[in-house]
Amino acid sequence: MQVKRYMLGKGSWATPYYIATGAQKGPCVMVVAGIHGKEIASIRAAEKLVKLLNQQKLRFSQGKLIIVPIVNQEAYRKRIRGIPDLNRTFPRKKKQLATQPLSAALFKLTQKHQPEWYLDLHEANGLSQKDAKVLGQTLITNKANSVVPAVRRIIKRMNRSILVSDRHFNIRLHELPGSSRTAAARILGARAVTVETGWSLPKKVRIHYQLEIVRHFLKEAGIVKGNEVYLSAKVRTIISRKYGITK
Ligand SMILES: [Zn+2]
Repeated sequence: MQVKRYMLGKGSWATPYYIATGAQKGPCVMVVAGIHGKEIASIRAAEKLVKLLNQQKLRFSQGKLIIVPIVNQEAYRKRIRGIPDLNRTFPRKKKQLATQPLSAALFKLTQKHQPEWYLDLHEANGLSQKDAKVLGQTLITNKANSVVPAVRRIIKRMNRSILVSDRHFNIRLHELPGSSRTAAARILGARAVTVETGWSLPKKVRIHYQLEIVRHFLKEAGIVKGNEVYLSAKVRTIISRKYGITK
């Protein structure tokens, strides 16, 4: 399996991205993180994915996986959300342009590859299980998006493995014009999801959740099959025991 590194954007906006390609043609999955520069667990999870690909610990035989681990490098360096909020600058309808050079570059990349699946990794306040108004521990998608059944299945699988029920994930159906997810869904017809882990949890737990969710989506997309290597069972058991995440 081949993993190639490229650069997106120019100057202080420049940021690496990676394309892993299986030997056979198949679905394209795009994973982006760091649209908000301080949402560290989502960034670390995306970096870990790249590492696993480079180490051939994450392998797949068909399809394509595109990863942009830190979209907003300037905001990441300052550990801020970003000014302006990049996730309000993506095109809101067809033929409309993004209002910021970096979101324009990212959307152009997305448009070029036309991913069937688009995952935007984030972090948010609170725990959705305790407070319906917060976004921590949620998967968000647009109401009419064809990804909804897969999101529900993944939440079920995730929650089955999470002993502490306060940490359970919930679905949110919500259009956010100007966000990368809504642009990918509305304009490109992708199955597009925003992943939000809750800030209040330990960082390693959040990274683990992010990686597990991506793994479930890769399976749903048909890129990674059950018998293919991804985070060996041993590693997952150690992490799970250490942080009391799973049974
Ligand atoms: Zn965010």
